[in-house]
Amino acid sequence: MAQDVLDRLTNETVELLQALIRNQCVNDGTPESGREESSARLLRDELEASGVDMQLFETLPGRTSLVARYPGTDPTAPALCLMGHTDVVPVSVDGWLHDPFGGELIDGEVWGRGAVDMLNLTSSMAVAFRHLITSGKRYPGDIVYFAVADEEAGGTHGARVLIDSEWDALQCDYVLTEWGGIPERSNRGMNLLMAVAEKGIGWRRLIVSGSPGHGSAPYGTDNALVKAAEVVGRIARYQATPQLDELWEARIRAMALPPEQEAALLDPGYLADALAAMPPGVARNAHACTHTTFSPNVIHGGVKANVIPDEVVIEVDIRTLPGETAADVDAHLQAALGDLYDQVTIESIQYFPSTKSPTDTPLWDALVRSATKAYPDASLVPSLVTGGTDSRFFRSKGAVAYGAGLLSPAVDASEFARRFHGHDERIDVESLRMTVGLWLDVVEHLWT
Ligand SMILES: [Zn+2]
Repeated sequence: MAQDVLDRLTNETVELLQALIRNQCVNDGTPESGREESSARLLRDELEASGVDMQLFETLPGRTSLVARYPGTDPTAPALCLMGHTDVVPVSVDGWLHDPFGGELIDGEVWGRGAVDMLNLTSSMAVAFRHLITSGKRYPGDIVYFAVADEEAGGTHGARVLIDSEWDALQCDYVLTEWGGIPERSNRGMNLLMAVAEKGIGWRRLIVSGSPGHGSAPYGTDNALVKAAEVVGRIARYQATPQLDELWEARIRAMALPPEQEAALLDPGYLADALAAMPPGVARNAHACTHTTFSPNVIHGGVKANVIPDEVVIEVDIRTLPGETAADVDAHLQAALGDLYDQVTIESIQYFPSTKSPTDTPLWDALVRSATKAYPDASLVPSLVTGGTDSRFFRSKGAVAYGAGLLSPAVDASEFARRFHGHDERIDVESLRMTVGLWLDVVEHLWT
């Protein structure tokens, strides 16, 4: 692609990203937050002149998503969807060096909430999509642009419901979305992590019961809070058996570690020691990639300082590995709680199994060919996302979905993790330039 065209598209991406950040579509998890309507309308206005077919879907007042479709020339050819969410998570303003919703361009970086999660991609996808249409070139398959609300609260008012109710509008075979193109330097060269799978969600609510009484005479009482403390402790100490699948093995082999360290990380018997020797941030991700995890994150209980509580409610964030079911979640809790298991009432808050897409696909090949243009010697490493993305809803419809994008060497895996939902979120213009180029290259390679 001509450099002056890429320069122009990069500038357009910067401006659109700034506008999306300034819209402050902050999703705090309540149905009335997010207000993605402003960004859905902004994106519609951006695409309007291209003449593309567009539809707005409002799942709740103000919770609007946009779908645009550029028809292909061959109705039997697979369709590609570029999906970006428009909502962002809340900020703690005091931790920021610059205005989190200012969208300022400072020393080659655009600052603001959403700069890496994922308004950088949502904006670059819109700019690339518009360019594809206005250039007049036609492709075999349809190309869909989906700017979706409510990803940050599990897609209840976005992808989860729209993929079910509006599949005619969203129908596609391939999806590109967030969490990919993350550079990780290995002992052999550069790796680019691209998400092909994500862990399952098995959030549970644990209700611990006891008997009420006067706090002045606790001896021999059945205090729900005391029992709940033991429940939390047992869950925190519980270690699920590690599972070292082919994604883990591919990731470790790609790191080209010293043979002894590599062997330990690929042996369930030595994994715990190998994790303990790693830097904390790396170990945290490595542990989550190899274990079903349990994090007790919410507790409610007690009414007054002098009343022994008869009920405490605990909420646990459980993330399952590929292949595990809701029954496996219960089995883990039974193992963790032991003799306390029967004394606790367990409810499911949310369940979605782990999902995975294969890599022997034309889309993966197109990504490899396109990403190595920016990083000629890099290897693409298929990776597991430990959190959740909207990919899972498309995968459950049979589509192949990857987390993609391209980050410059300045935003490596640990820097990306620091900025993701963190303070001082920002993206360098170089990453935006690489990413908008990536989308256009992928489209050129996908159907050839
Ligand atoms: Zn995101």
